[in-house]
Amino acid sequence: MQNELKIRDLLKGNKTFLIAGPCSVESEEQIAKTVNELATYEVNIVRGGVWKPRTRPGSFEGVGAEGLKWLKQAGTSVNLPVTVEVATPEHVEDALKYEIDYLWLGARTTTNPFSVQNIADALKGVDIPVMLKNPMSPDLDLWIGAIERIANAGIKKMIAIHRGFQMHKKTAYRNVPNWRIPIELRRTFPDIPLICDPSHICGNTLLLQSVAQEAMDLLYDGLMLEVHINPNEALSDAKQQLTPKEYGELVKKLEVKKPYSDDKVFFENMNELRKDIDSVDTMILELLAQRMRMSRKIGTYKRGAGVSNYQPDRWNEILKSRTKAGVEKKLSEDFVYRMYQYIHEESLRQQEDMPE
Ligand code: PEP
Ligand code: MN
Repeated sequence: MQNELKIRDLLKGNKTFLIAGPCSVESEEQIAKTVNELATYEVNIVRGGVWKPRTRPGSFEGVGAEGLKWLKQAGTSVNLPVTVEVATPEHVEDALKYEIDYLWLGARTTTNPFSVQNIADALKGVDIPVMLKNPMSPDLDLWIGAIERIANAGIKKMIAIHRGFQMHKKTAYRNVPNWRIPIELRRTFPDIPLICDPSHICGNTLLLQSVAQEAMDLLYDGLMLEVHINPNEALSDAKQQLTPKEYGELVKKLEVKKPYSDDKVFFENMNELRKDIDSVDTMILELLAQRMRMSRKIGTYKRGAGVSNYQPDRWNEILKSRTKAGVEKKLSEDFVYRMYQYIHEESLRQQEDMPE
């Protein structure tokens, strides 16, 4: 897919591409004050929601179209473009009327192909950059599908925003990052800039710096961060918003990584170690193949004896002993656990697929 939006043309000397502003536009004064102070730090686009998707009715649902005027004014006064979340064709129409510069589709919207299609239809013949957040669930195809629908409407400038995924269990994050999915999206659409929204991943301000840094380490093109003039009094997402000053500090501490270096010594060191890694990988694959051959042999005995391939006691024992041994070798428990889940699945699959 050809994407005509090139981040490097928009950076304006900032260390990375930065979208910042409150979760919600709450009043003319709140957005003006926030943006005035924000503009003293590095920022490329000002954000602010005026229609807020809330889990339950009755909470603050945004100030509506009136807020678009305040948002645009605030941006214009400091010479910055502005962006708003749109969830319906009417929102698109209002945003265009108030000359909002970028649109974004929220996670709840990209989750629903009907909504995305309605918005795509409203965007036909319109030339405006559109940013798409990942869907609520860790479903890469749904994210890809949303991007394709918007592209099919003729939109040529897009950005993907990674804001984490909702999980059924409690974790340290509000939405778990699951970095594998945005990395896979980037492999699918290498031309579409990818930015990270640590605010909605974290749900609080404690982990913001480390998640933002992780995004830089993974070569993301930029960040979207929620910033409010007075986070304690924010009408939505109060716990995860930074003051403009805290935002400035976070950005200052960020270390932006480059994908390669021309340094000769660095290059030689890397090459040597990479050769070693290549031969270790060959051994790993050979050992795995050997393990699977043994598994298939065991499978023939199980089949002959009318015994199930799945052996819960043995599987429990393997998980326990291998994670323990892995941890002793300085591997993370979670990694060894997940690796053995894959090995076990493949082993069962091979036993099941054996010819009669
Ligand atoms: C937001 O950006 O304020 C928002 C509602 O985000 P998300 O769609 O990621 O939940
Ligand atoms: Mn928010």
